[in-house]
Amino acid sequence: MKYIDEFRDGDLARQIGARIAAEALPQRHYSFMEFCGGHTHAISRYGVLELLPPNVRMIHGPGCPVCVLPIGRIDLAIRLALERGAIVCTYGDTMRVPASDSLSLIRAKARGGDIRMVYSAADALAIARANPQREVVFFAIGFETTTPPTALAIRDAAREGLANFSVLCCHVLTPSAITHILESPEVRQLGTVPIDGFIGPAHVSIVIGSAPYDHFAEEYRKPVVIAGFEPLDVMQAILMLVRQVNEGRAHVENEFTRAVTPEGNLKAQALVSEVFELRPSFEWRGLGEVPYSALKIREAFATFDAERRFDLSYTPVADNKACECGAILRGVKKPTDCKIFGTVCTPENPVGSCMVSSEGACAAHYTYGRFRDIPIVAATAAATEEATP
Ligand code: SF4
Repeated sequence: MKYIDEFRDGDLARQIGARIAAEALPQRHYSFMEFCGGHTHAISRYGVLELLPPNVRMIHGPGCPVCVLPIGRIDLAIRLALERGAIVCTYGDTMRVPASDSLSLIRAKARGGDIRMVYSAADALAIARANPQREVVFFAIGFETTTPPTALAIRDAAREGLANFSVLCCHVLTPSAITHILESPEVRQLGTVPIDGFIGPAHVSIVIGSAPYDHFAEEYRKPVVIAGFEPLDVMQAILMLVRQVNEGRAHVENEFTRAVTPEGNLKAQALVSEVFELRPSFEWRGLGEVPYSALKIREAFATFDAERRFDLSYTPVADNKACECGAILRGVKKPTDCKIFGTVCTPENPVGSCMVSSEGACAAHYTYGRFRDIPIVAATAAATEEATP
């Protein structure tokens, strides 16, 4: 298959691994954060860690949209369905994230809530058109990748004068989260999370471009390499990061040139800024309140803002005490540090958000951990077999 198989070539992966091992200085350690859940998934699925020398370590970041969604936001969506009688539409993974009172959206559906899984914001809009007598709320989550379709749905609803459609907006922003991590005590003062550089997001960067990362490289002296989601993309990005560290450089480099440009998708950016503005603060699971890290709907589109329409107020809710998602999302702990990983908490019965989505660190470790001792080619074959019906 063109443009897929060539990025999963086991021999090439081993060659890049050998290059990384040859160029990584034996007297030093390298710690790189892969911000995105898509990279976490690729690293686990294709056994990338097995090809790295022991002194090159990867740290999971908070870039899984489902994982960073705080319980209080899911509670709001559940209340809209159970107490306000709204049809709540959202993406599949969001349905299973544990919320308060042992509920999740899917359990709330079992209790009679009209909660529907959709593949896009446009699907939610279609449901609103088909049910003019009902309130339809799109529970919108995700990073900059899923924000433009939500903006488009709101603008279309405004143009059509759709009176029963609104959006519970939980869209978050990548650059603010990276800044927050770099400013955290674990990175800045305690040194418990040593970060020598970042693998920058793939799909997010298609929208926002590579330019927004210049700040980290300059201000914090941290190299960033934007990479695609295939295993060779990730391997190549790690090699580029090792080279930057060795040469004392801190630049933004783009491995994913087949899709990412410095300026990004200007049309999508214009649409997003027409509909959304920055929120002064937003709670992230694991990171707490992060200033200017999320979007809210502009006054001009207030009628489509579910928070205003239903007069919702947000109440923070603590995570399950046994769950280490917060520390995992900050890069402080690994999934296997959690005492209930793989026993009480599994993808079938997730206790925390990191076990829900395939991009979550715990789900990726649980699903692909068994490939740890298998070479990348065998892992690819097994994964392909698994995906074939
Ligand atoms: S294994 Fe489950 S409970 Fe533990 S940190 Fe991961 S998601 Fe949370």
